[in-house]
Amino acid sequence: MDRLLEGHKRFHDEVFPRKRETFHLLAEMQNPQYLFITCSDSRVLPDLILQTGPGDLFITRNAGNVIPVSTDEDGATATIEYAVEALKVKHAILCGHSDCGALKAALRKPDLELMPKAARWLGHVEEAFTHRQPLNPADGENAELVSLIKGNVIAQLANLHAQPSVARAVARHELTVHGWYYDIMTGNIDVYNEREDKFFPLLPPTD
Ligand code: ZN
Repeated sequence: MDRLLEGHKRFHDEVFPRKRETFHLLAEMQNPQYLFITCSDSRVLPDLILQTGPGDLFITRNAGNVIPVSTDEDGATATIEYAVEALKVKHAILCGHSDCGALKAALRKPDLELMPKAARWLGHVEEAFTHRQPLNPADGENAELVSLIKGNVIAQLANLHAQPSVARAVARHELTVHGWYYDIMTGNIDVYNEREDKFFPLLPPTD
């Protein structure tokens, strides 16, 4: 825990004073424009990869960036409902990532006897198999996993669109939904193009 205490001390003594005004403005209200739905993975840091800060992103995370449709009560869909109906976010971004443990488990079927809840949770990513993307030789031995992770982004996007609050806001043109794939190795983000059923780089090439 020492590392966390040291980190908090640095935040408290050095970072917070520099942003005091921002935090004071935010202390009693938030008005985020973006709902960000991603995996719990420790290597996916939304505020770092998007260079956002306090008050910018309303975030929900779970293993495999899943939006359950078969259960009536879960953190993800309740959070989405609140973000859309109460906070009126303008964009909902669903972001999967490379080397995702949830999709790896769905693909390789390890023994999950001691993780019955995780095993059941993986049922929510099964739909990813029907949306797998073409194998890309550039992904090497991870090609199958990358194709499945991207398939999961597409599957969960459909679940996101199916949320009644999302469907209403999209129909009113008040909300835009995005599907992203973040590559931990390169820092690149690919964005899903629904019309072409393909992923494209979010940024234009630099050379
Ligand atoms: Zn993951």
